[in-house]
Amino acid sequence: DRLKESKVYMKALFDYNPSEDKATPCQEAGLPFKRGDILQVVSHDDPTWWQAKRVGDSNLRAGLIPSKSFQERRLAYRVKMGTMPHLRSPGRPLSGLRRSFRLSRKGRQDTPEETPPESEFLTYEEVTRYQQRPGERPRLVVMIGSLGARINELKQRVIAENPHRYGVAVPHTTRPKKTHEKDGVEYHFVSKQAFDADAQNNKFIEYGEYKENLYGTSLEAIRSVQAKNKLCIADVQPEALKTLRTAEFKPYVIFVKPRIPESQPRHTSGTSPAGGEQYRITDEDLEEMRQSGAQMDQQYGHWVDRVLVKEDMASACAELRGILERLEREPSWVPVSWLR
Ligand code: 5GP
Repeated sequence: DRLKESKVYMKALFDYNPSEDKATPCQEAGLPFKRGDILQVVSHDDPTWWQAKRVGDSNLRAGLIPSKSFQERRLAYRVKMGTMPHLRSPGRPLSGLRRSFRLSRKGRQDTPEETPPESEFLTYEEVTRYQQRPGERPRLVVMIGSLGARINELKQRVIAENPHRYGVAVPHTTRPKKTHEKDGVEYHFVSKQAFDADAQNNKFIEYGEYKENLYGTSLEAIRSVQAKNKLCIADVQPEALKTLRTAEFKPYVIFVKPRIPESQPRHTSGTSPAGGEQYRITDEDLEEMRQSGAQMDQQYGHWVDRVLVKEDMASACAELRGILERLEREPSWVPVSWLR
């Protein structure tokens, strides 16, 4: 009946266009949506077609959307028939990252992905409104970025402006400490043996190698920031989200991608008007950045709560500051499994 408002909300993990759906009983009655939209399921009486409204839509009429089980079944079928690559399959590796800061991943993440169980198909995730209460641990903020996003600098700047409120998860590294660095501030500087032992004991949520040194972030590094009642900002490899998406951390994921101009006017490279050295960005670099962003979006976009398109460092800092303030003040959508 009309008085009973449905309390079932689903976050869409895929784009849906009813006019391209051959299976729908009625294309006109379909509700189009995009990945990331929140859908209020008004009726799930039918096992194949749900009736739903999009949250935030002024349109009061509900439309038809494929049910979770139906969508899972047809995705599984398409993968089996080879008409669709699996969404979770690792993307094409980027060729020739010259200014590479990508770290090779170690351990079980290196094993090739197999076809996952049906429940891993990207369909819907049941969500609910969540508002952190005063005194409650703030959600973990995870920043992931595509090539050229420089999230480390972004994060450091915003934390430096507000060190009492925000904190960073200090990673471990085996590289030598530089003179201006302090142990426990930039990194925990440890021996290779100590690092390996910690890795063996599953202390790291992720780790990797860069220029023959090991780097990794421990769970403890995140917990110790949160124990001080600060909002913890971590920039980790996005694979770490598999581990971090729990009720304990309730990660809020920000994907930073640089704004990439269509094509670079040739004459802008060289020296800047001020006469200083300007570093040259070729069309090839831009293409790499574009590919890196697309790959990140394809592999991890469904876990992203907010995309920050970075114009320049100053405006990106201002935007990040705003996002963090709103996150603490306003309710946000989280998987229901985090609150049970
Ligand atoms: P640097 O030695 O110049 O401080 O850092 C080298 C690289 O290691 C940077 O690209 C930085 O992002 C990466 N790095 C720093 N901490 C971590 C971490 O906890 N995990 C991973 N995977 N990489 C890190």
